[in-house]
Amino acid sequence: MSDVPVPEPRSVLVTGGNRGIGRAIAEAFLAQGDKVAVTTRSGGAPEGALEVRCDVTDPEAVEAAFAQIEAAHGPVEVLVANAGITADTLLLRMSEDDWSSVLDTNLTGSFRLAKRASKGMLRLRRGRIVLISSVVGMLGSAGQVNYAASKAGLVGMARSIARELGSRSITANVVAPGFIETDMTAVLSDEQKDTIKSQVPLQRYGTCEEVASTVLWLTGPGATYVTGAVIPVDGGLGMGH
Ligand code: NDP
Repeated sequence: MSDVPVPEPRSVLVTGGNRGIGRAIAEAFLAQGDKVAVTTRSGGAPEGALEVRCDVTDPEAVEAAFAQIEAAHGPVEVLVANAGITADTLLLRMSEDDWSSVLDTNLTGSFRLAKRASKGMLRLRRGRIVLISSVVGMLGSAGQVNYAASKAGLVGMARSIARELGSRSITANVVAPGFIETDMTAVLSDEQKDTIKSQVPLQRYGTCEEVASTVLWLTGPGATYVTGAVIPVDGGLGMGH
């Protein structure tokens, strides 16, 4: 028998965990033995995860999702707010709907999730909140006024949560990926992809697994004194911003 203590499985929620970056994050938590709930709108959660239908723009659906997850896994101890969308166009062409749909999903959705998750975390007197932002939130990006604003907003949100809830051993951090191979970036032309790669010091796109390993670290025993941080996973594109 080994004397190495086996960590207790935690109740983990990953939004948008059916594909792309969210799926890799959910699979990484599953691989280390945690109890993982994945919210999706369209289904297709990884095997072993609790699949919960939830549109993060709907406050009632968020409440119902938490009730379902808490009944199955107990209070959420690790929240990864990953669900996100883009609706890219130049400022002068950006409609009210392009703006509000992106803000409501990426920023207000994360607020709804963090607020609801913090209830259980306060009772537990521990918790980890990770908001998935983007390098674009710090650098800006032509054609992404809505998206960049939503992703920059997550930084202020996480830092405020870190200050509000730090005394209860709850951390709140931001992960800011650069360009990662997923459905979201598959829509870019080869020319756009080559231009992006030429600006990345590591000269390539990142993988979903490279984002997932950073999230795992931030929520694990190696990052107990890290809060209010923005961790880039961008091949150097943002140079630490
Ligand atoms: P994908 O487009 O591959 O997946 C998006 C995910 O978000 C899907 O699981 C989708 O669920 C979910 N989602 C979208 N809208 C909602 C909603 N209203 N309610 C619930 N779930 C929703 O994206 P990526 O994996 O590429 O991106 C994941 C996150 O990482 C996003 O926040 C994105 O902004 C961020 N990011 C991505 C980068 C990249 O290069 N790919 C770079 C930097 C940041 P469903 O399938 O059910 O619609």
